[in-house]
Amino acid sequence: MPSLTRHEAQLRSELISVNRMEVDLDLDRGADHFHSQTRITFTCARPGASTFVDVKPVELRSMVLNGRPVDVATLADGRVELTDLAAENVLEAQAVMGYSRDGQGLHRATDPADNQDYVYGHLFLDAGPRVFACFDQPDLKAPYAVSVTAPPAWLVVGNGAATQVTPGRWELAETRPLATYFVTVCAGPYASVRDEHDGVPLGIHARASLREALEREAPQMLEVTKASLDYYHGLFGIRYPFGEYHQVFVPEFNAGAMENPGCVTFRDTYVFRGAAARDEVLARSNTITHEMAHMWFGDLVTMRWWDDLWLNESFAEYMAHRTCVEATEFTDAWVDSTVARKAWGYAAERTPSTHPVAGSPALDAQSALQDFDGISYAKGAAALRQLIAHIGDEAFIAGVTAYLREHSFANGTLADFLGAMERASGRDLTSWSRAWLLTAGADVISVDRSTGSVSRIAPQAFPADRPHTFDVAGYDGGVERFRVPVTVTADHTVVEALRAAADVELVVPNAGDLTWATVLLDPLTVEALPTALAAVPDAQARAVVWVALVDGVCLGQTDPRVMVRAFGAAWPQEDSDSVLNRTAATLLGRVIPTFLPESEHDWALEMVAHAASRLLASSAPGSTHALLAARTLARSSADEALLHAWADGTGLPAGLEGDSDFRWIVVRNLAGRGWTDRVGVEAVLSRDDTLQGRLGALTALAALPDPESKAWAWRELTTNRHRSNYELNALAQGFWVSGGLEVLRPYVARYFEDVPAMTAWVGEDAMARVATLAYPGRVVEPETLSASQGTLERGELTAAVRRAVVDGQSELREALSSRAAFR
Ligand SMILES: [Zn+2]
Repeated sequence: MPSLTRHEAQLRSELISVNRMEVDLDLDRGADHFHSQTRITFTCARPGASTFVDVKPVELRSMVLNGRPVDVATLADGRVELTDLAAENVLEAQAVMGYSRDGQGLHRATDPADNQDYVYGHLFLDAGPRVFACFDQPDLKAPYAVSVTAPPAWLVVGNGAATQVTPGRWELAETRPLATYFVTVCAGPYASVRDEHDGVPLGIHARASLREALEREAPQMLEVTKASLDYYHGLFGIRYPFGEYHQVFVPEFNAGAMENPGCVTFRDTYVFRGAAARDEVLARSNTITHEMAHMWFGDLVTMRWWDDLWLNESFAEYMAHRTCVEATEFTDAWVDSTVARKAWGYAAERTPSTHPVAGSPALDAQSALQDFDGISYAKGAAALRQLIAHIGDEAFIAGVTAYLREHSFANGTLADFLGAMERASGRDLTSWSRAWLLTAGADVISVDRSTGSVSRIAPQAFPADRPHTFDVAGYDGGVERFRVPVTVTADHTVVEALRAAADVELVVPNAGDLTWATVLLDPLTVEALPTALAAVPDAQARAVVWVALVDGVCLGQTDPRVMVRAFGAAWPQEDSDSVLNRTAATLLGRVIPTFLPESEHDWALEMVAHAASRLLASSAPGSTHALLAARTLARSSADEALLHAWADGTGLPAGLEGDSDFRWIVVRNLAGRGWTDRVGVEAVLSRDDTLQGRLGALTALAALPDPESKAWAWRELTTNRHRSNYELNALAQGFWVSGGLEVLRPYVARYFEDVPAMTAWVGEDAMARVATLAYPGRVVEPETLSASQGTLERGELTAAVRRAVVDGQSELREALSSRAAFR
């Protein structure tokens, strides 16, 4: 179906204004369909003109414009032409709509724990017409009056406060003006925890089978919610504008969360049913405060068109970390940002799909989705930090507040935002924004100890003159010997203090991680890492070093074995849970399986398992470090007796007794090594027949290394149209992690045939994930690269699949080059 183009959106918003949306949904029509009635009141600037309304129903029952029927047979490509508009118009539509399984539109899931059904709306980015007829573009905002009919035992939550007027019949308070993509309804027998803060009613909701976990986790979530609300009220000086504030943890959600005004939706794996590491609670807190930042930036003021989506995300990404540091217990949130978020952004920067933070012309709505990546979030946030270093925090906040006030309940653009910043700071930001926002690529920053010079090299493909403000630190024997603030505006900058302290063990450029750059560590520093890294007293600097190591490995400058050895030596002594978790994930998920030849996997896994055992032995039982160590050991261990004992529930580390999620990590390792079979996996499933358990089982079954299991998993992945988005991801996650190359090799060609074909029934948002997870990057051979390249050259891929192939191919190329360079 064609996606709305920028030009069409421009013409339509010049022609019409939407005054009010009335939406009535009947969710009590069985598991496949729901009924949708819409009444749109809108004006037209040129009476007599035509436009079109967006609607993507199973069946369009009727449409009436100003009392006269519109021929429903004219529905084509999700649009109905509306002719001869009056100055004031009323459009009424009745349709039968389909629930989705791919997380877009109105998603419906059954919880196997109790066979209860749950529904949630995710209308981002252009799924609104799958729920109700509308003019689906971000700058046609209108107040919504929503009513819902649902089975009588269900709870209904949405953007406006919901009241049950008769059993099963709900009226939601009319909202302030909203963009179509922010409208949501969540309905089902959700369990709830309610509270109130500063006059704002708060609700947290999750599936009934998660009630116990919800009640255990809610106090921490509410604490962060309240702290964030206070912080934003103080910072922006504008009250939270959308009435009640509900946070609904929904099943099979594609993203982390979605900032629907008054009704934020989250993936429900955030309601930890088992043990949670501190950095996972940090990540959840960060998401809570990220979504709340959007209430002002994104929801109150919305971008005019999708090409400014980055501004929403960069701002919320920056603001969430700032809020965690300043208003919650997570004062190390920037460390987490370095290893979890910026590492993601640098990876995006290394692939050919990289793009400038801003100014990518989203010619249609769908193409904007492709820029929704580590560049828009992490690099954009880093650029905002550099902007603050450039103009000062006071000017930044004054500019933000002015922008929010000026465009409240309306729309803004990058030009509006920069204009507000220029007025607040009295500075011309033209060249700053050209270098930082409108040019792709990361500069390489390094230090020459002998000359004391800091060099900055812009990537050849994207020449730029980016000013950087950051610091360089030196460490010796676990002591910070110096820390020098540096402002770099040329390719070589001599810093006298550096020359004076050239003999230290480690020199870390960008030690405080204030800027966005590829940090190239000098050879003496790399050499000293295995012995000296763990002693660096500053977690932020250690995080920068780890990310530099990963960058070095991926760019073919550092032997992956150096990272494995540094991990073996430094990881058991690491103190930051974010660093522990992310470095283990990167090593186990990418560096070992793809950069090292198959013959060295056992050695490297043994190194990881040994490091994990050491940390487990030295950590307080039940602590976050012990948990991260146990999980890392469960993923890497080749100790069959230990794994079987843990799977059976004996000899488990403290706090992991009865932890189903931990058991699935163990079972996945057992399955991948062929030390259990389908019967064994199903026996574990019978003890945990839940949504999570079924996903764990699918991953384990797909990981079984024999050809029959691989054939089954591939069939389920690529042909079973009833599989949900999460089930597809689970199958893809397990498929490539095990089995010899001779078993996996035939599926390289199959990927390029079978996965693109799935777009016939899987939406783009879900496809982006499954096509990435299913990419055959584990078969690190030139033939995989040529099959991939051939597919790209043939064209005919959807934007999401194409992006997955481009990025997967880029990672494959990195692994191939590294293997060739370091034999
Ligand atoms: Zn966001």
